[in-house]
Amino acid sequence: MQIDFGTTNRVIGIDLGTTNSLAAFMDLTGPKIIPGSDGDKLVPSVVSINPRLPNRDREGVGALTSGEIVVGNAARELLLTQPERTVYSVKRLMGRGLEDIQEELKLFPFHIAPGSEAVLQLQLGDRTYTPPEISAFVLRQLKQNAEAYFGEPVTQAVITVPAYFNDAQRQATKDAGRIAGLDVLRLVNEPTAASLAYGLDKRENGIVAVYDLGGGTFDISILKLHDGIFEVLATNGDTHLGGDDIDNLLLRIALEDVQSEWGEDLSRDSEGVQRLRRAVIQAKERLSFVPFTFIELEYHGNKYHREIKRDLFDKLILPIVNRTLGPCRNCIKDAGVTVDQIDEVVMVGGSTRIPLVLSAVENLFRAAPHTELNPDEVVALGAAVQAGILSGEVQDKLLLDVTPLSLGIEIMGGVVSKLIHRNSTIPASATETFTTGVDGQRNVLIHVVQGERELVIDNRSLARFDLKDIDPMPAGFARIEVRFLIDANGILNVTARDVRTGAEHSVDVKPSYGLTDEQVEKMIQDSVEKAEQDFEERQVREARVEADTILAAVEKARRHDAYFELSDEERAAIDKAVNELLLVYHADDHNLIKQKIEQLNQVTHKLAENMMNTAVRGALKGTKI
Ligand code: ADP
Ligand code: MG
Repeated sequence: MQIDFGTTNRVIGIDLGTTNSLAAFMDLTGPKIIPGSDGDKLVPSVVSINPRLPNRDREGVGALTSGEIVVGNAARELLLTQPERTVYSVKRLMGRGLEDIQEELKLFPFHIAPGSEAVLQLQLGDRTYTPPEISAFVLRQLKQNAEAYFGEPVTQAVITVPAYFNDAQRQATKDAGRIAGLDVLRLVNEPTAASLAYGLDKRENGIVAVYDLGGGTFDISILKLHDGIFEVLATNGDTHLGGDDIDNLLLRIALEDVQSEWGEDLSRDSEGVQRLRRAVIQAKERLSFVPFTFIELEYHGNKYHREIKRDLFDKLILPIVNRTLGPCRNCIKDAGVTVDQIDEVVMVGGSTRIPLVLSAVENLFRAAPHTELNPDEVVALGAAVQAGILSGEVQDKLLLDVTPLSLGIEIMGGVVSKLIHRNSTIPASATETFTTGVDGQRNVLIHVVQGERELVIDNRSLARFDLKDIDPMPAGFARIEVRFLIDANGILNVTARDVRTGAEHSVDVKPSYGLTDEQVEKMIQDSVEKAEQDFEERQVREARVEADTILAAVEKARRHDAYFELSDEERAAIDKAVNELLLVYHADDHNLIKQKIEQLNQVTHKLAENMMNTAVRGALKGTKI
């Protein structure tokens, strides 16, 4: 039986976080968080793959069944019993190549599948999964929560991404949405979403600083707001700084306590450590609201009970909090603003509930930050506002975003020609015409790069593709039109067209997120090396064309009367020069060929004069006939 749910254009907003994910929607009164079936709003971004049951396979259930995939709180529990099958912080791996994440991998208990050089794959039990596939499990959970909540299917979403996410990371996030059965209508920068949740888009203009301290990452962004457009002026941060650092610090102290009280090294007992970690986190989170609390653990008949006061806690975490301040100052500097020019400060991320964090931010920005909304919900709420705009629930709001980095293509000499400059409002498009560098060239390699530097090698390589079957022409004659289009999600599409034949080759740029940095680097290096080779080759070919011309002219002159008027020595000199030119003709050395052409030119000078044959004389001078 088919159930008709009726048509709905409900769009949900999703904060796909490193530590926690959550979804929100827009109702008549504003954005609201969608709770999960357990009442929890936050879904830990953890996915665990249970071993498949053999009898299921025998029954021919090829697809994964729900019992095999565990997401959220339950998956977090499994970190203990099956760490090698349990993935957390997968956001760090999205859109990255193997080489990008060598440092990250050292911290992860799960394994990378062999052959991951092309496309990163996580080996979880006997199956492999790409990071977008893992993220999709989290998204699917959020989708299910929303469907249970509304009692109808939900197929459309807005997902947030860090402002610094590049094209590949954005594309990977979109892929995750698609795998989860969600039509991702828009990707929104997290700081933009946070600003939207606070309704800051209602300001005519202004500068907004968004301070985001989550579980494992710290991001600071400075946005400029003008006429409803959020422009990312600068971003900074630390990809390994957050609540986890505080947890580890407290855990270390608690482990030492336990050692001295119980005379037992709990650090070797992974279940014990995990339970103590839980106790430490609970104490930390309570301490944001009360002046003192207890870290408590009962384990194997032993009891640990320790009071911790806010004062001591603050002293302990001060170095961690201070580590956020340098990136803030750099960000302000990069944005080209002064502290006084910043109109609003927005607090994002669960760790900003800590009073010491709040006062540090207040001191730095000399202003009271926005803390009215829950800091771990504010990004999802903002995503819901954007979702409301897209579904038509919220009107009279124009929301645009900007591209954080310039986009361009490689041109001769390994130099970048930028088509779309950073901070262009998106959607954006740009068209430029290029030409070929080699005679009769039938293919051109379009190399798409992202970044601010002048040389290709210093930028990020996004994609390469061949524009084939172009009309072969002398160098510099072909006209290749390249069009860049960034859609509203910041995703790039490149089209190349041979203007002469009118043949358009529309190519969807597949970002190179499957490639390792090493490969990308090698590709770039190769291209530069080949560019040199090509140039060398071209010079050799040009020299040979010149040699052909003069040899043909000399051959022709040998039948001319003027040739017989030369002395024997003069004719011998010509023969010698011709032979010497023929000897070097196939050498890959254009200088040598040129030198012998010049020698032949000199010994045939008198002959040419005598012939008074302009065509031959022209030929002898190396001009093409
Ligand atoms: P992310 O954006 O990295 O996915 P969140 O914004 O959800 O993460 O932040 C998670 C972090 O916030 C965790 O380290 C958690 O312990 C911390 N956190 C949550 N609530 C509090 C609180 N009341 N006091 C201190 N830290 C908190
Ligand atoms: Mg976050």
